[in-house]
Amino acid sequence: MNELFKFADDIGPAKVIAIHEPKLALRAIVVVDNVAAGPAIGGCRMEPDVTLEECFRLARAMTMKNAAAGLPHGGGKSVIAADPAMPPERKELTIRAFAQAIRDVRDYIVGPDMGTNERAMAWVHDEIGRAVGLPREIGGIPLDEVGATGFGIAIAAEVAQDFCDVRLAGARVAVQGFGAVGKHAARFLTARGAVLVAASDSSGTIVNPKGLDVQALAALKAEGKSVVEYGSGERLGRDAIVGVECDIWIPAARPDVVTMSNVDSLRAKLIIQGANIPASPEAEQRLHQRGVLSLPDFIVNAGGVICAAVEYHGGTQSLAFQTIEEKIRENTRATLEAMRRRKVSPREAATGLARERVVRAMEYRRF
Ligand code: NAD
Repeated sequence: MNELFKFADDIGPAKVIAIHEPKLALRAIVVVDNVAAGPAIGGCRMEPDVTLEECFRLARAMTMKNAAAGLPHGGGKSVIAADPAMPPERKELTIRAFAQAIRDVRDYIVGPDMGTNERAMAWVHDEIGRAVGLPREIGGIPLDEVGATGFGIAIAAEVAQDFCDVRLAGARVAVQGFGAVGKHAARFLTARGAVLVAASDSSGTIVNPKGLDVQALAALKAEGKSVVEYGSGERLGRDAIVGVECDIWIPAARPDVVTMSNVDSLRAKLIIQGANIPASPEAEQRLHQRGVLSLPDFIVNAGGVICAAVEYHGGTQSLAFQTIEEKIRENTRATLEAMRRRKVSPREAATGLARERVVRAMEYRRF
């Protein structure tokens, strides 16, 4: 009992569901954290070593992200303890069985996450008619292909210009992780006059102060190659991206990449957190003390979930982009104004805003 309620507080979680289907060796957990604003949206993660604690933390992060984005949705998450690289037929069966098991959990809408994708969401939708991040053929907006999150990052950068000493025109940008988020962030930022001077992936870093061609790098990645195979520039190790001379630094790869051991190598004046939890709380505080503006993940990387919510409500791709622009512009500004007014870090300001919205939404509900 205590283990299950270890993470309970005044916001949630509302429900914790354990799923076990011995025939398929299916073991999964669903955490519906908070549904005051509407049914919870959150990804389904498939990894062999997922934990209950991880599921709680991710579900809460979705409550905060959806509230901060002003969506009519609460937060939830699900985890399936299995190898995502299992044979395709078995994966389909596992995901379909998982979908059936949550058929009656109507306040949880499933989205893709690590180990699942739009195909998996199509199976869930086929079983129970309740999933987001669907393929285009069945009404989905492929958010990674269109660059929903990268677009939101560029909008946040536009707003940040009023709160720090960085101008997008001519700003030198370094991107850690040239995947769905990183490459589109680079594309939308360079379209606004910035120059991509460094990019990295799991194989290494490429640096060229004169500028890197975003399309050419994206083409390399599409061929399954690394950014270090780009024709001109200096090739460095994977983690060298942290110390690259730049104005804007965008983590768009893994969590926990900035810690007290490397935070002071960061040269940028503006950090836009594309990845989830890229910096430890101590490292974020240190950046704040140094006068580096670090825009919190759940404010600026909400483009993907905003796109998913628009898809769920039957909207089009152009409506999704319009909504991402409006919401990320408004929320980044509200966060940075609260930061100034309350003299706190951007994360404290953002957390305060999101929490306030959740608590207010809860006041409108009976239970
Ligand atoms: P992706 O798999 O498309 O791309 C990740 C890229 O990072 C790959 O190019 C990979 O080679 C690289 N990489 C992996 N480890 C690295 C390392 N240690 N150093 C440098 N590069 C490394 O993933 P994505 O969808 O772009 O997501 C990136 C991050 O953003 C994840 O943390 C994800 O949770 C978060 N996020 C994604 C979205 C979205 O819409 N896709 C939305 C919000 C947050």
